[in-house]
Amino acid sequence: MKPQQFQDLLNAVPLLSSQQRNTLINALSEQNSPSDIAKSIEDSFVRAPKCPHCGSEALQRWGKRNKRQRFRCKVCRKTLNAFSKTPLARLRRPEAWPKYLEGMTHSLTLRPAAKQCGVSLNTSFRWRHRFLQVIEHDQAPELSGIAELDETFFRESFKGQKKGLPRPVRKRGSDKKTDCRKIPVMVARDRGSQTVDGVLKNESADELCRHLNGRINIETVVCADASLAHEKLARALGFTFKELVSSSGIRVIEGVFHLQHVNAYHSHLKQWITGIFHGVATKYLSHYLGWRRALTGINALTSDRLANKILEFLHFNP
Ligand SMILES: [Zn+2]
Repeated sequence: MKPQQFQDLLNAVPLLSSQQRNTLINALSEQNSPSDIAKSIEDSFVRAPKCPHCGSEALQRWGKRNKRQRFRCKVCRKTLNAFSKTPLARLRRPEAWPKYLEGMTHSLTLRPAAKQCGVSLNTSFRWRHRFLQVIEHDQAPELSGIAELDETFFRESFKGQKKGLPRPVRKRGSDKKTDCRKIPVMVARDRGSQTVDGVLKNESADELCRHLNGRINIETVVCADASLAHEKLARALGFTFKELVSSSGIRVIEGVFHLQHVNAYHSHLKQWITGIFHGVATKYLSHYLGWRRALTGINALTSDRLANKILEFLHFNP
């Protein structure tokens, strides 16, 4: 491309709608897989610099530290870099991130992931949860067609927590399972494998609405168990609700409306959490929901796809 053409292209960037920006970013990232994800993040920041402290776009370059360009905000005068105030702030060894993300596409556990990337177990833990902080937010933009909605429960877990436990430590296997608080988790998944999920504070319609508002096309037919909360949700969001009354044996309506896919999703999710990670702490449950969601999307998960999710998140939520 001639320099003038390229300049015209750059000049047109501020005129793009958010949808056009998305399309362009996707086109560019497919052309150029972000094997150097940290550099892609820095490049993206330089193209649209913004102070994470005050929102000003008036930044000046302010030397380098740890090979990273620093900036100073002309308004609030704080210094920052492309990663400041993002989930990836102060993470080192960016050259090993793609390898780590690759491991995540295979549900690699902390120890082998640490070994593969030559980092400590603590770093492996920190990286996993920093990356998952991003992935957690990558919900399906909008469910459509036929969708299935159901709640399931996870036992409350304080795994890894040594201090401030609300109850005495129990030996593994010896606890009375009925004593545990059960944490409700909602999964809504359409037949195109798009998923919206969330850890719920309670099972009310308002709480379901908080997670699903704006994420279900009103032409969607949603299958769910008959309950007041689901009825109220359907009225609030305007979708068609196919009520299944499993207690009276109505598990399928008209041959296509049922909960078999979402129930299979729940069961695989639980097997994955129990079998691979031997349970997870409740405070990190939403991270694992996001990880599972990424693994079960329409397209197979690759490290490039994960890297692109991170890039998009940092670009649109600076
Ligand atoms: Zn500022």
